[in-house]
Amino acid sequence: MATEYSSLFTFFGGTGDLAKRKLYPSLFKLYVRGNLGEHFAVIGTARDSWSDDQFREVVTQSIREDQPDADMHAASVFVTHFYYLAHDVTDKAHYAVMKDLVEKLDEQYSLKGNRIFYLSMAPRFFGEVALNLKSEGLLSEDGSNRLVIEKPFGTDFTTAETLNEQLSGAFEEKQIYRIDHYLGKEMVQNIQALRFGNTLVESLWNNRYIDNVQVTLSEKLGVEDRAGYYDTAGALRDMVQNHIMQIVSQLAMEQPVSFTDSDVRVEKIKALRSLRVYSPAEAAKNFIRGQYGANDTEPAYRDEPNVPKDSANDTFVAGKLLFDNYRWSGVPFYVRTGKRLADKFTRIDVVFKKPLIDIFAFPQNRDNSLAPNVLTIYVEPNSGFSLQLNAKTAGQGFETEPIHLDFQQDVAQKEETPEPYERLLHDTLKGDQTNFASWDEVSYAWKFVDVIQKLWDSETPDFPNYVSGSMGPAASDELLQRDHRSWIYRLNR
Ligand code: NAD
Repeated sequence: MATEYSSLFTFFGGTGDLAKRKLYPSLFKLYVRGNLGEHFAVIGTARDSWSDDQFREVVTQSIREDQPDADMHAASVFVTHFYYLAHDVTDKAHYAVMKDLVEKLDEQYSLKGNRIFYLSMAPRFFGEVALNLKSEGLLSEDGSNRLVIEKPFGTDFTTAETLNEQLSGAFEEKQIYRIDHYLGKEMVQNIQALRFGNTLVESLWNNRYIDNVQVTLSEKLGVEDRAGYYDTAGALRDMVQNHIMQIVSQLAMEQPVSFTDSDVRVEKIKALRSLRVYSPAEAAKNFIRGQYGANDTEPAYRDEPNVPKDSANDTFVAGKLLFDNYRWSGVPFYVRTGKRLADKFTRIDVVFKKPLIDIFAFPQNRDNSLAPNVLTIYVEPNSGFSLQLNAKTAGQGFETEPIHLDFQQDVAQKEETPEPYERLLHDTLKGDQTNFASWDEVSYAWKFVDVIQKLWDSETPDFPNYVSGSMGPAASDELLQRDHRSWIYRLNR
């Protein structure tokens, strides 16, 4: 039986792309599951002058597009809880009108003063909105007040710190939910089940048995119509600072005392504290960048709409992370992400050390030709695990070959799996911050990334340096070759 929550949602940027594509359809799924019932209401707000009816029609359409099999009768009841308010967030006077509506809906739907403010708009407004919500009396005295914010959280440590100070002027850390939608993905959440639920895995999860860890977030699409934002951000800030650092910290953390948000955060922060922040010279050695060039059918990044012809922006990054702690000393965590790569997928490959001697080849052949054991966690598009082991090839003689123990989520499980935004909205209603980035995590990640970004900003790269549809520049492969290793996932092997 699903727990039903009562809350008012106020979506700033309520007419925007994210709200329409993800947030409203996700709320509807929570409604269908019974997490929302009679006692919820939604205010959509943006500058556009829409009526409630127009807004409800847009929400209905979003549900229809996202869930073609949705029960549209249920949707028609669901949207009666939606209200629209035209509002410029920079105009303080508008907050008085909003306050009246908030209080009216609170009473009408018996919401007990529970309020979720979701900022689905340009980050430059985050601080101002948070402060106005407080100063104009929008925060309730009796219920819970939660602020949900989208990425990006600053553009470097200094801007992130300023933003955090603004938010802290209105909300406490325990009320701030910083969205990182990778944390809502089933298999990212499964990292902890896999590690802390299995003696077999956790007992080997250290530098005695693990040789290296590889995290790949590969995108097939180019910059599309996001050049305005992306050309000022780049892959390092857009993907590494947040999603990759969050994944890596879950892989590297120690076992938390309990599976609660505060205990999990403590361990993630400890892991990030031991992440080696590079000197500029170390950053130059351990991080490489790339930008896509054209192939037969797709344009180069510099020829995409709204991208400057001499853009030095990185659309690819690969790097090596090192944790200076007892568990991980000496184990590189290789990460890579980029646009216009061979395929769209996210996977984690945990590569184990080989047996010291390959007795099946020894002494005739002193090379250890056994394949390493590899635990692959498929995050998307398919969710599952695969464990590569060595086994004897059937037949005469004694040859070994790698075999794979595979687990893939089946269709029924997949249908049951909530979308990241559904899960994260549910966690917000529940007041569970496990799957949101804390300020300490964000700040450590920025301090690490800032050194690399600063170095890159000071040098002119020779771009483009990889062909669309490849797995990035040659330097990405060389980064591992230098350590006598290679990417587990690669093309044309
Ligand atoms: P969008 O440009 O589609 O929507 C922005 C919204 O803000 C619109 O509703 C607009 O009317 C409103 N707005 C702008 N100025 C305003 C003002 N002064 N007062 C009131 N409203 C104002 O943006 P989006 O794609 O929906 O993204 C929203 C946020 O989510 C951004 O922080 C973005 O980085 C983040 N995000 C978006 C996606 C996505 O898939 N679209 C994915 C991840 C993160």
